[in-house]
Amino acid sequence: NAFGLRRNDGALHGVPRRVPVGIGSRRLRIVVTGGAGFVGSHLVDKLIGRGNDVIVIDNFFTGRKENLIHLFGNPRFELIRHDVVEPILLEVDQIYHLACPASPVHYKYNPTNVMGTLNMLGLAKRTGARFLLTSTSEVYGDPLEHPQKETYWGNVNPIGERSCYDEGKRTAETLTMDYHRGAGVEVRIARIFNTYGPRMCLDDGRVVSNFVAQAIRKQPLTVYGDGKQTRSFQYVSDLVNGLTALMDGEHIGPFNLGNPGEFTMLELAKIVKETIDSSATIAYKPNTADDPHMRKPDISKAKELLNWEPKIPLREGLPLMVNDFRNRILNEDEGKGL
Ligand code: NAD
Ligand code: UDP
Ligand code: UDP
Repeated sequence: NAFGLRRNDGALHGVPRRVPVGIGSRRLRIVVTGGAGFVGSHLVDKLIGRGNDVIVIDNFFTGRKENLIHLFGNPRFELIRHDVVEPILLEVDQIYHLACPASPVHYKYNPTNVMGTLNMLGLAKRTGARFLLTSTSEVYGDPLEHPQKETYWGNVNPIGERSCYDEGKRTAETLTMDYHRGAGVEVRIARIFNTYGPRMCLDDGRVVSNFVAQAIRKQPLTVYGDGKQTRSFQYVSDLVNGLTALMDGEHIGPFNLGNPGEFTMLELAKIVKETIDSSATIAYKPNTADDPHMRKPDISKAKELLNWEPKIPLREGLPLMVNDFRNRILNEDEGKGL
């Protein structure tokens, strides 16, 4: 490989090539790519909290040091500014691969899903680490099956505006399974459905962050199209518990990780109004191209094999992100001298 290192070619299917760092006296050493982002930083909190050593790799494309600042100085925590599109040499037991420009305004310009995933799989192959890919419900495209099961192959436009993300993640899943079958890398695949919570990017254009920020700023809630399209929204702590259950379990996946509670965008707007500001108004805007009409996970597989299901319904989860959003919006305004 790029470092001229000897490969672990003798590895058998699924058998670690060396004694994992976590076995014996040493603690489990875990890499989280994209760990300075929304989901990643909550995952890192859980891993540190349960006593793991954590190395975050992040280029701060959408992530922020503020999401991890409470861990600075913790000897079990390391933060590396690095773009996963470039190779990196580390010794680790597990890799949670989250790095990805994950929202419409960011994801169009970046080969992270392909090159970054390849490098992290190369790292897993060399070290014998277990590799978990955070894929997405977007691999189902604009689905013709509802709700979506893991067996559904998807309805994706390969040349559309969203395809860099959809097809990027589909390629990442392919690479992951190829490294598993071809090189014996232990892999896990999660297909994550829309997730929300504190530390979400403020202005990356996702619907929950948009509505919550708009309600706090006393701006109209922007509903795209007729607002009848549906999504299923999962609170971030439920997702984090699903990711660790998947990594630590025996099943490769793919697994849908999402909350089956399904809402139209108009229903979501109503809940945001009830939660934050009952006087908030709605402004209709044109919808984006190829917007999926509906999305709802079938999570029977994760329930049965991972013993996992989400616990926090939307009406309970939304209020849990409001203070974080208020504080950040206030800080922004102060920064502008308002
Ligand atoms: P996020 O944007 O908050 O986090 C992504 C992180 O990856 C950021 O910290 C960013 O700086 C980092 N990153 C991006 N490109 C990088 C690169 N080339 N090298 C190193 N770091 C890089 O997004 P998130 O919502 O926390 O998403 C995390 C993962 O979960 C992503 O892979 C995303 O596709 C997946 N996912 C999220 C959702 C959701 O609703 N939040 C839904 C489906 C899938
Ligand atoms: N890689 C990495 N860190 C490692 C091992 C590999 O970043 O510890 C990168 C490597 O540079 C390559 C990719 O992962 O670009 C795939 O590695 P692999 O060994 O599978 O492929 P090869 O180098 O043989 O093409
Ligand atoms: N959406 C909306 N108003 C916004 C942002 C998004 O009505 O301010 C809609 C968008 O058209 C889509 C849904 O909300 O139908 C979810 O969009 P998001 O980008 O959050 O997630 P994704 O489309 O990736 O599921």
